[in-house]
Amino acid sequence: MYPSDFYSDHKYCETCCDYVSYLQSMEHSYCVQCGDAVRLFSKEDWEVFNATLKQRRPKGGRPKKKEQIAPEEGTDKESA
Ligand SMILES: [Zn+2]
Repeated sequence: MYPSDFYSDHKYCETCCDYVSYLQSMEHSYCVQCGDAVRLFSKEDWEVFNATLKQRRPKGGRPKKKEQIAPEEGTDKESA
């Protein structure tokens, strides 16, 4: 089983202080137990999540795409 399935089925309810099943509405998700809005992570997990992101610093930045100028064909005659 995929461990991340847990997070797709559960969100953190601060009122219940636990990961709970939730009801998805248009904009928010709500705890099925107390009806309060739930969040994706608990504060602790959120900090861990952010810390993990900060550790993954891209090395050397993004590779830049160089525009390749194609040499014109047909103009370069081979001299015999
Ligand atoms: Zn709750």
